[in-house]
Amino acid sequence: LIAADHLCVRFGGSEVLHDVSIAVQPGEIVTIVGPNGSGKSTLLRALLGIVPAAQGRVQRAPGLRIGYVPQRLALDRSLPMTVRRFLSLPVRVSDAAASQALARVGVPAVAQMQMSSLSGGQLQRVLLARALLSDPQLLVLDEPTQGLDQPGEAGFYQLIEDVRAQSGVAVLMVSHDLHVVMAASDRVVCLNGHVCCEGTPHVVSSAPEYRALFGLGTKGA
Ligand code: ATP
Ligand code: MG
Repeated sequence: LIAADHLCVRFGGSEVLHDVSIAVQPGEIVTIVGPNGSGKSTLLRALLGIVPAAQGRVQRAPGLRIGYVPQRLALDRSLPMTVRRFLSLPVRVSDAAASQALARVGVPAVAQMQMSSLSGGQLQRVLLARALLSDPQLLVLDEPTQGLDQPGEAGFYQLIEDVRAQSGVAVLMVSHDLHVVMAASDRVVCLNGHVCCEGTPHVVSSAPEYRALFGLGTKGA
C-alpha cells in the first residue's frame, strides 16, 4: 500500500531519518517503536507526503484512502465544540454515519459531549472514529494510546484488531510500549534515525538492538 525506499529526511543540517526502508501490505498491522526524537512521527509524515524526502522516495498505491491521526491531543481537546460537530470536520457527515462511527469504536454515547470533557480514552476513540469515516484502506496512527493507562492501551489495541478484522484495513502506528502493542502487531519496526531491527513482535522484543535502545537487559540473563 505504502512504502519508503532508502528514505532520508533532513531538517536544517541534521539528518533525522537515514536510509529508512519500510513497507505496509494490505491488511497488515505494523508498529513503529523507538525513543523520543528517533524520527517516528517524521517517518509517518514523510510517508504521507507532509515532509519532503531529502533522498530516497515514498510510494503510495494509486488512490489510496488514508485515515491519519496525528500526535496532537492537546489541540483536539481544546476545540470548543461537541463530538458530533468534530466528526463533521472537515467533511460533513450525516447523524447516522456519525452515530455508527462512534458505536463502532465503543463510545456510542459521546456525540453531544464537548471535546474538552472527554477522557483520554474516549478522545482517542473519537479520533479513530473520525479517521474511519472515509473508509480508509490504511490507518496511520501516531501514538494513539498516549495518555492512557495500561488497560486503556490494551483495550485500544484490541479495538484496532477488531476494526482490522471487520474491514481489512491496514494499520501503521507508533507506540512507545512494545510490550502492550505486541499482541496487536503483525510486524514491528524499531527506529532510531535508521531501522535498528524489524520483524515479528517476538523477534524484535528479544533482539539485542531493540533491548539496548530501550535500556533493557539481555533477555533471560
Ligand atoms: P516522540 O517520541 O517525542 O514523538 P519522534 O520519534 O516522533 O519523537 P520526531 O517528532 O519525528 O520524533 O522528531 C525527530 C527529530 O526531528 C527531533 O529531533 C525533532 O526535533 C526534529 N524535527 C521534527 N520535526 C521538525 C521540523 N518540522 N523542523 C525541525 N526539526 C524537526
Ligand atoms: Mg512523535
